[in-house]
Amino acid sequence: MAGQLKGRVAVVTGSTSGIGQAIAEAFAGEGASLVLNGFGDKAAIESLRARLEKTSGARAIYDAADMTRPTQIASMIQRAVSELGGVDILVNNAGIQHVAPIDEFPDDKWDAIIAVNLSSAFHATKHALPHMKKKRWGRIVNIASAHGLVASPNKSAYIAAKHGIVGLTKATALEVAEHGIRVNSICPGFVHTPLVEKQIVDRAAENNMTRDQAIRDIILAPQPTKEFVTVEQIAGTALFLCSPAADQVTGAQFSVDGGWTAR
Ligand code: NAD
Repeated sequence: MAGQLKGRVAVVTGSTSGIGQAIAEAFAGEGASLVLNGFGDKAAIESLRARLEKTSGARAIYDAADMTRPTQIASMIQRAVSELGGVDILVNNAGIQHVAPIDEFPDDKWDAIIAVNLSSAFHATKHALPHMKKKRWGRIVNIASAHGLVASPNKSAYIAAKHGIVGLTKATALEVAEHGIRVNSICPGFVHTPLVEKQIVDRAAENNMTRDQAIRDIILAPQPTKEFVTVEQIAGTALFLCSPAADQVTGAQFSVDGGWTAR
């Protein structure tokens, strides 16, 4: 059903790259107005913004809020309200990664990962909920991870943050269930984005492997299909969670992980 998000305003954090960008594109394809956010080249972001306005026939604005800064997050949500008329859909997607054993894990990396991957979702949710409550309609989609449900070595901060996001999803869903607001997580397996490309390059170098070997034997080892999830598949799941078919889905975690968490 094309145009199913016409009249809706969606804030997608970390939408200048990867999964967030694909979600913004899918939402624009359904007619949503958008707040784009994330780091990157100014000209590339402006051309993405302009392209999405053409696709949607609605407005798209860019807000450079740093997701480690609560006041900047609050002002991004406020811009959605004052410039676009509300915040109907919030996708908490911005995320970073650092891979190291716990006893060598840099304190500043721990703090940054918890701030971007977990606390930012709390702050954005906190400021978006009053506006969703007013309209008695809202959809929050938290981009968690297979690592929100199970663990792997050397990713302690990421795994703690993603398990935290799953908990935040359930807690928020219960608090707002009678306000027409639905809150769910998507738990992707490995998706080939810049965040994972860095891990491929690092693992290949550390293990003296080719790129293809590192992908097959390390990166995709826990993913039974041995295929990457695509950004479009995650975007399709986000779209489903904002569709009427998902009106009674809340507090749930959607695995899109090639079978990873079936083990
Ligand atoms: P990506 O690196 O392509 O995109 C990350 C986005 O977050 C970018 O737009 C970046 O600018 C933004 N960002 C980072 N720090 C920020 C900050 N401080 N303030 C504002 N924006 C910031 O990565 P991706 O793979 O598309 O990841 C998106 C989400 O999906 C993350 O939460 C990630 O944990 C999750 N995820 C990814 C995978 C995967 O395999 N790629 C798997 C499971 C979950």
